[in-house]
Amino acid sequence: MEKKQFQAESKRLLEMMINSIYTQREIFLRELLSNASDAIDKIYYKALTDEKLVFDKDSYFVKVVADKENRTLTISDTGIGMTKEDLENNLGIIAKSGSLAFKKENEAKDGHDIIGQFGVGFYSAFMVADVVTVTSKALGEDGAYKWESTGADGYTIVPCEKDSIGTEIVLKIKENSEDESFDEYLEEYRLKAIIKKYSDFIKYPIKMDITGK
Ligand code: ADP
Ligand code: MG
Repeated sequence: MEKKQFQAESKRLLEMMINSIYTQREIFLRELLSNASDAIDKIYYKALTDEKLVFDKDSYFVKVVADKENRTLTISDTGIGMTKEDLENNLGIIAKSGSLAFKKENEAKDGHDIIGQFGVGFYSAFMVADVVTVTSKALGEDGAYKWESTGADGYTIVPCEKDSIGTEIVLKIKENSEDESFDEYLEEYRLKAIIKKYSDFIKYPIKMDITGK
């Protein structure tokens, strides 16, 4: 399987995220939830102009599932999904999220708060996860694709199975080290608190499920 390389700019941001000593790592969830919400917006707006598409409010939601046994946190949405090209173009490259501006303007400044002020986007997942797997099926496509990365060394994209349109992001939460614990990102109370804090970024219902001790 061919491993594709990130653009140089993306790679640098990614490395920053991976090695982040940033205390507010929780913002990764804000970023992923806001992306999920944006993706549902996109399918909603499509439905407004495409009469073949019906936007049934109840079918559109974001789901957050923590599996403590396997140390995974899964964020899935019923949004517009991504094609193979979208996965390649949107996740391999720094998007318009302001990440670029953030980097340019603030390289010299202290790292604190900067991450909170600017949307650092999808890559913030690497602050808490050492493997990120994105499975997506785009509206109007028959096939689904799986994008996977263990960080700055690149990513792979392969065809996969997925029944419904939308995106599922699985974070393999980092193992604890001597100085830090990542367990909180698998805890219901903590996840609920983070979601509540950033609820302005999410327009759709969020379902939650926690398994394991
Ligand atoms: P931004 O949201 O500011 O564009 P991100 O880094 O957060 O930057 O995301 C990059 C791009 O990846 C998004 O613009 C979107 O096209 C795509 N994307 C990310 N998450 C999803 C998702 N859950 N569903 C569909 N597309 C997504
Ligand atoms: Mg975003």
